[in-house]
This record gives sequence, structure tokens and C-alpha cells, in this order.
Amino acid sequence: MIRLVLRIQVIALAAERVLVLAEDRTAALRLDQVRRDFVANVSHELKTPVGAIALLAETLAEAADDPEAVTHFAGRLGVEARRLAGLVQDIIDLSRLQDSAAAHEPEPVAIADVVAEAVARCEVEAGARDIVVAAQVMGSPEVFGDRGLLVTAVRNLVDNALRYSDGGTRVSVVARVGGTGTPGEGTAEISVIDQGIGMDPAVLPRVFERFYRVDPARSRETGGTGLGLSIVKHIAADHGGEVTVWSQLGRGSTFTLRLPLAEGPAASSDPGTAGA
Ligand code: ADP
Repeated sequence: MIRLVLRIQVIALAAERVLVLAEDRTAALRLDQVRRDFVANVSHELKTPVGAIALLAETLAEAADDPEAVTHFAGRLGVEARRLAGLVQDIIDLSRLQDSAAAHEPEPVAIADVVAEAVARCEVEAGARDIVVAAQVMGSPEVFGDRGLLVTAVRNLVDNALRYSDGGTRVSVVARVGGTGTPGEGTAEISVIDQGIGMDPAVLPRVFERFYRVDPARSRETGGTGLGLSIVKHIAADHGGEVTVWSQLGRGSTFTLRLPLAEGPAASSDPGTAGA
């Protein structure tokens, strides 16, 4: 009887091992598939601006004695070159995020500084699109992390708010202390609110996927890469936080980053402002 029980236990252990190995293999295959899809997507995305640049350069050479055509094609060449540069930058950001060895030493970061820098970097684009970007930081929330990455995250959200809004509208960036407000327990909440085209709630679960776009043509025309939100999601996760979205077609969108507050002196709740 004891022998039988022992035997059954050995068989059960072996079966469990096979199951674990099978699960490992499935996970590895899935990861491999994700990598292959990513490389295929990147190659496809790179080919579009590279092909356009080659074609525009040829056309430009042929139109050398027509100044109007030269100005027109040179302008389009610039647009494609900037799109390519944006895509390369996004790919670098993503690979930097996925390579934990390259992660910077975390340090205390004031959210007011992050918001001010992100908004300042979008000023030219906002002016060109006739959109007012207003920032307000309530209290002095501080998080522990990489300042550069946090600026990238907020900037990507503001960039999108500008990209998917019409001229004459307003983008608000509001930061405050959320949750319990206790350092180590509370959160710093940064919301980017626009009055833009909005999205159908049905697509919201997909917007953080790499290369997912609700309207690929509008995204490409306005310099989108399809990577911005997946970068934001990675940065939020790397800081122990999350990013969520609320949106309604024709009314606008609100993206909110929630990051754990740095441990240390309690964040005050006096209202203050940052950026413009
Ligand atoms: P993209 O470079 O195309 O903007 P993102 O990853 O940043 O890529 O966003 C994915 C998609 O989500 C966009 O293509 C767009 O369809 C939608 N989206 C993102 N932000 C907004 C917004 N503020 N308003 C409306 N749609 C948005």
C-alpha cells in the first residue's frame, strides 16, 4: 500500500513537472511570437517613411528648375524625415525600457518639475495648432524614479492630446495627490484632459498595445508612431504605477497616470501651479 502511495506521488510529481515545462514552453513561444510581431511591425513602419523619403528625393532632383515644386517637395521631405526620427526615438525609448540593465538609479522626482518640462516641450506644437495647454499642480507630490522617463510619459500624453484635438480647444494637465495621500501609500495623479475627437469606449482596452491606432491615417498624418501609449504604459509600470483612460467620441479624452508617492515628508495639499 505504502509503495502504491509513493508511486502515485512520484507520478503526480512527474506530471506536475511536465505541466510546468509545458507552461514554460508556451510562455517562451508566446514571447517569441510577440518579438517576431514587433520586428515585423517595426520593419513595416520604417519602410513607409524610408520609401517616401527615397521617392521625394528623386522627385526633388527632377524638379530642380521649378522653385515652387522644390519648396513643396522639400517640405514633405522634412515631414517624412521627422516622422522617421520620431519612430526611431520611440523604438529607442521602448528598448531602453525593456532593458532593465540600462535603468537609471531611481531618485526623488518632483511632479511639478516633470509637468513643467513636459508642457514646455510641447509649447511650439501647441502654438502651431492654436491649442492652449494649461497646467496645474496641487500640492507638491514627489515620486521615486527616473525624471527623464516621467517627462517622456507626460509629454507623450500631451502630444497625443494635441494630435487628436482641433485648433481653438484646450488641453489641461492636472496633477494632485491621490489615494490616502500618505507617502509610501498614496499616489501622485497626473491627468491630461483634452477636448478632442475622443474614442469609442469599445477601443479603449486596445489603445495601449504597440502599433494599435484607432485611425491609422490620422495618426500617420500627424506624425504618430503607434508606440506612444505603450511607452507610457511601460514607464508607469516601471514606476510601480498605472495609466488609465476615459474617453467619449466627440467629447474628448482623459488619460491619468497614477504613481506611488515617494516615502518621505508628507506631500502638502496647498494648491500651486506649474508650467503654462
Ligand atoms: P499614435 O502615435 O498613433 O498616437 P499612441 O500609442 O500614442 O500612437 O496612441 C494609440 C492610438 O490611440 C492613437 O493612434 C489614437 O487613435 C488613440 N489616441 C491616443 N490618444 C488619444 C487622444 N488623446 N484622443 C483620441 N485618441 C487618442
